Amino acid sequence: MSYNAMKSDILFYQRFLQSNNLYMGKLDGIWGPLSDKADKTFRQMSSSIADEMGKFDERSEQNITTLLLPVQRIARRFLASVGNYDSIVKIISGTRTYQEQDKLYAQGRTIPNLPIVTNAKGGQSNHNFGLAWDIGLFEESGLYIEDDTKYQEIAELTLPHLSEIEWGGEWRRFKDYPHYQYRTSTDEIAAIRQRFEAGSVLA
Ligand SMILES: [Zn+2]
Repeated sequence: MSYNAMKSDILFYQRFLQSNNLYMGKLDGIWGPLSDKADKTFRQMSSSIADEMGKFDERSEQNITTLLLPVQRIARRFLASVGNYDSIVKIISGTRTYQEQDKLYAQGRTIPNLPIVTNAKGGQSNHNFGLAWDIGLFEESGLYIEDDTKYQEIAELTLPHLSEIEWGGEWRRFKDYPHYQYRTSTDEIAAIRQRFEAGSVLA
């Protein structure tokens, strides 16, 4: 769940860079000059967006910079629209590689003694395509807040300003209160995955 993890999975990262319209080379999992150039441009563009729109806490910054560039802008508008809420709001999760997602899926299943945290395997979550983020609410002391009503309040504050995103708390089957994602032209996760793997998730 970091830029470094993303970059270390070269094929994944090439797909991500191509979805940002920055990489036009082969999707072959081999790091070459084109991958390198696209990576540098991605980092430069991410930091210009941060300079232009304003920075947040370090944890949020680390996660925002794992999102697709247009989604980074929306995530920054999202945090800005939280305003002076009485708890601290951070983006605590952004993009995960398929491998990271599989590890998370194993929690509470093949890895025992931990709670189940996701129903999505690698390639089945919008977190795997640069499109989604999760927030965490915290007390001043750093204590994590679990109260769903507070997550609901954040959605009420932010959603009216952001028609481009959907909130996991509105899902009918499985409510995911900390989750937000960019609204793509299809809801079909298999179709989104197919586009991502072809390097054009936003097309
Ligand atoms: Zn999520």
